[in-house]
Amino acid sequence: MKAAIRQRALELGFDDCRFTNANPPESANQFLDWIDSEKHGSMAWIKRNAEKRVDPKLVLENASSIITLAASYEGKDTIDDDSPNLGLIARYARYRDYHDSIGEALIQLTEYLQTLTSNEAKSLWYVDTGPILERDIAQRAGLGFIGKHTNLISRRLGNFFFISEIITTTKIEPDKSEHNRCGKCSDCIDVCPTQAITSPFVLDARRCISYLTIELKESIPLEFRPMIGNRIYGCDDCLSACPWNRFAGKGRLMAEHRRDDLDQANLLELLSLDEDGFRSKFRDTPIKRTKRRGLLRNVCVALGNIGDPMAIPALERAKNDQESLIAEHAAWALDQINQRYKGN
Ligand code: SF4
Ligand code: SF4
Repeated sequence: MKAAIRQRALELGFDDCRFTNANPPESANQFLDWIDSEKHGSMAWIKRNAEKRVDPKLVLENASSIITLAASYEGKDTIDDDSPNLGLIARYARYRDYHDSIGEALIQLTEYLQTLTSNEAKSLWYVDTGPILERDIAQRAGLGFIGKHTNLISRRLGNFFFISEIITTTKIEPDKSEHNRCGKCSDCIDVCPTQAITSPFVLDARRCISYLTIELKESIPLEFRPMIGNRIYGCDDCLSACPWNRFAGKGRLMAEHRRDDLDQANLLELLSLDEDGFRSKFRDTPIKRTKRRGLLRNVCVALGNIGDPMAIPALERAKNDQESLIAEHAAWALDQINQRYKGN
């Protein structure tokens, strides 16, 4: 059965498929300590179902095995340094929403599992959508190892891949687990613009640009704004710095879902989007998560950091936006540009 599932997963476009049992991950206590120390910031949903996260059997009664899957989204940064007012979007978000594209493949794989078990198995699939410590589970399944930046690294795929999983009541022989292979390297810690990786394997999400530009729904703390640079949705710096990327390859499942238009995000165009314009541009992408107010907040920060006076008219308009969040960040950006000019 295991070989058949793996074969079907590869046919569906996944780049790797591994198996483990449904016991709680060994790192459960570390996760609970991390929650207790409030390093998850305003992501209250993580705390709400913390008990389920550390025990897959609370997610699916009589769970026996977990199938873990990788779908690579390797891609290069193509931003043109000579063009002013371009923003950077994290690589994973320059695709059709992975919840949809990977979800479709997971539905097919789960149906296949049902046919193999004569519909006797109960199974649940998740792609970053369920209460499960997926990186820890994936390491136990041998899909990769958790690096000092706290993300999963595959020896075959590098850092840029999505993880998903199927929890099932079917018993499947587990694969051999993986172990950390960072050695003395600390490149991800050194490169982080906000010192969010406070020590190896410990991320203070409240400092992380991915959190600040995506998860945080309110005003971005002033101390972090200059460090965000031109990143408007997420941050790839720690992943990009990792030497294991030399083994990365192009993903198969995700390749057809690329959104090339998001490689170079024109900040002035984005700042002119109304609600309809935002929805139509980002409806099918993960970027819809921030809503217009969150993305345009980030665009203002990026424009303030770039400091191009060409952005002043657009920022003046944004300063009068109905959304006070956007208006406040536009005012900050104008201050940054004006201060730079006074300084020259
Ligand atoms: S995503 Fe960016 S800000 Fe967050 S830990 Fe990595 S390098 Fe630091
Ligand atoms: S950059 Fe180095 S320390 Fe960080 S995850 Fe990769 S190998 Fe580990």
